[in-house]
Amino acid sequence: MVSLTFHGAAETVTGSKYLLEVGRTKVLFDCGLFQGLKELRLRNWDRLPFNPQHASAVVLTHAHIDHVGYLPRFVKDGFRGPVYATPATEALAELLLLDAAHNQEEEAEYANRKGYSKHKPALPLFDAHDVKRAMSRFRTVHREDWFSPAKRLNVRYHDTGHLLGSCMIEVEIDQDPQPIRLVFSGDVGRYNAPLYYDPQTPPPCDYLVCESTYGNRDHPQESVLDQLTDVVLAAIERGGVIVMSSFAVGRAQQLIYLLHVLMAQGRIPQLPVFLDSPMAVSGMNIYRYYASEHDLSEGLAIRSDFEFDFAEVHLTRSVAESRNINSVAGPAVIISSAGMMTGGRILHHLKQRLPEAKNTIVLGGFMAAGTRGRALQEGAKSLRVFGRDVPVRAAVVEISALSGHADRSELLRWLKPVPAPRTAFITHGELSSATAFAELLQRERGWHTLVPKMGQRVELQKDSTTT
Ligand SMILES: [Zn+2]
Repeated sequence: MVSLTFHGAAETVTGSKYLLEVGRTKVLFDCGLFQGLKELRLRNWDRLPFNPQHASAVVLTHAHIDHVGYLPRFVKDGFRGPVYATPATEALAELLLLDAAHNQEEEAEYANRKGYSKHKPALPLFDAHDVKRAMSRFRTVHREDWFSPAKRLNVRYHDTGHLLGSCMIEVEIDQDPQPIRLVFSGDVGRYNAPLYYDPQTPPPCDYLVCESTYGNRDHPQESVLDQLTDVVLAAIERGGVIVMSSFAVGRAQQLIYLLHVLMAQGRIPQLPVFLDSPMAVSGMNIYRYYASEHDLSEGLAIRSDFEFDFAEVHLTRSVAESRNINSVAGPAVIISSAGMMTGGRILHHLKQRLPEAKNTIVLGGFMAAGTRGRALQEGAKSLRVFGRDVPVRAAVVEISALSGHADRSELLRWLKPVPAPRTAFITHGELSSATAFAELLQRERGWHTLVPKMGQRVELQKDSTTT
């Protein structure tokens, strides 16, 4: 019997974990952490309903924590098989997992100090040692190369243009008289996105597991270069410094690249750019190493051998270097994380720059409920930073065109050439988004769709009519 069980990203965006069982063989596709609201985060502590020891392999789509962040715990709990990923995914996963371990350790330490944990002492979900053990299980595979993670399974990666190394997974399950074909979308990127190639067309399949982060809405049409130009020019006019909140991996590298392109094209003046995030600086090195994987078509007019170094970029790792940025008068750009302003060095820059009207704060991307980013987005007049209320006098603007996810129309475009699968499972979206996208596929394509529930198991069969 062949079955698929949804152990995460079911009726929610995070925690991607799909268990494929072929006879007694178990392979886990993605091994993500639940993130966001506390109720979700607590799920990371629940034991999985199957023993990690009994899984033969893990196959990863990409390095975002909601797709790889549970891996160290999975290994800690007994998993001993190989973890398959593209080379760039392996490199980014190590960086992101070490950072996640650091955050877990800090949180546990804080909980112990404040005494608010139910567990005595509070422990991290995993630590840096667990990350090292997890990393030792990695086996890298290049896109388009077939490999066999377990008996009766053949698997191949295709580019989805969402993050460096990101892929969908095509699976062929060996079975008489015909193999069953399955596709996991992973996260689908956007068309014409800076740095990334367009997502490839998914291969025909019997079953599709498709993300739906933006399954019920479209992004604005404006080009990201135009939006960024307007924001930077207006900020220069105002006479202060531009502080951009950014995820350290992916978004930060895109911003550096786009600013470089705009300066080289003369659309914005040359101005210093400070990348103030040690993790983002390490991310830059990985992006530089995998330069051949980038689509640099926005920058072709300047040079074809683009690297991320240009005269105006200052990469800061140390705290002292970071503090020096406080004396920069502008115009200048400071890119810092955390993306949603939940912590990290950006807090120091907010404390310093928010009270002055000449400065500009740029929000790049989705801001979850309860974060400082969301508060600014909703027009907060003051912001709590390091236990003090800091007045918000700086201009706050958004660059919505920077999303890493295909929107509703782009997902439909992506699926257009694909013949109807037996069932399309719609996952990785809030319930309203997943349901809307499932209904859209039914209506527009006549597809049979299902929004699986957490823990739901479905049997996969070969229909003689869908060979
Ligand atoms: Zn992702």
